[in-house]
Amino acid sequence: VDRVQGLSADDADRARAVLQGAERVVVLTGAGTSAESGVPTFRGEEGLWRSFRPEELATPEAFARDPELVWTWYRWRRSLVADCSPNPGHVALARFALRHGATTIVTQNVDGLHTRAAIEAADVGDPAPALPLELHGAIGRDRCSACGAVREALVLEGPAEGPRTIPRCPICDGPLRPDVVWFGEALDAELLERAFERARGADVCLVVGTSAVVQPAASIPITTLERGGALIEVNPEPTPLTPRATISLRGKSGPLLGALLDPA
Ligand SMILES: [Zn+2]
Repeated sequence: VDRVQGLSADDADRARAVLQGAERVVVLTGAGTSAESGVPTFRGEEGLWRSFRPEELATPEAFARDPELVWTWYRWRRSLVADCSPNPGHVALARFALRHGATTIVTQNVDGLHTRAAIEAADVGDPAPALPLELHGAIGRDRCSACGAVREALVLEGPAEGPRTIPRCPICDGPLRPDVVWFGEALDAELLERAFERARGADVCLVVGTSAVVQPAASIPITTLERGGALIEVNPEPTPLTPRATISLRGKSGPLLGALLDPA
């Protein structure tokens, strides 16, 4: 692992040994892992949406008030995400999870790139890969706001201009919405409980590309620590979690995860 620049070989070697020897690993990822795939933060520096902030559009109130506006924004976001691909960090995590069956990837990202990497990493004939727990949902899925039915979005449409119709539920004809957790909404309790269950039972929690300050996800690594497991952090900058980490590694997730997780 000494080929990774700017990294203490000791810490990286230790982290690699801990991860390769662990029986149960829980991984928590955030925006940093997606940044290397070019997924934008949707803070609206560009043209059409520069006068909107996500906090004004990604809310149940905005959807109730103007669903066409919210859908037009999400179609634009989907088109940007559709142009992105899993990066070496996603791929290294997906391959590690395939080899270490008791690995659970928990992500705060909605771009679906961990799921794509998991599906792409599995060879023909492999058992279906365990899919990541997407705590904030997935932008590529629709959910019925009336009956709750979920489906993959039928099309990843190109940049949308102007009003369009709102997609309807094929089961109950209710209005569909993107299957993501909006500002002011609670995370899926069952999904969250599964994430904490894995965190309680994990030998190691690997935290990647997140400052891990937003609750309740921020409690996942602490749960593993308090149960006697190790906490390994990978982030370009120190975070509030760094002082508690068993091992904290500075750097981008793509090259670092390859060094830590790929087989020798
Ligand atoms: Zn429905």
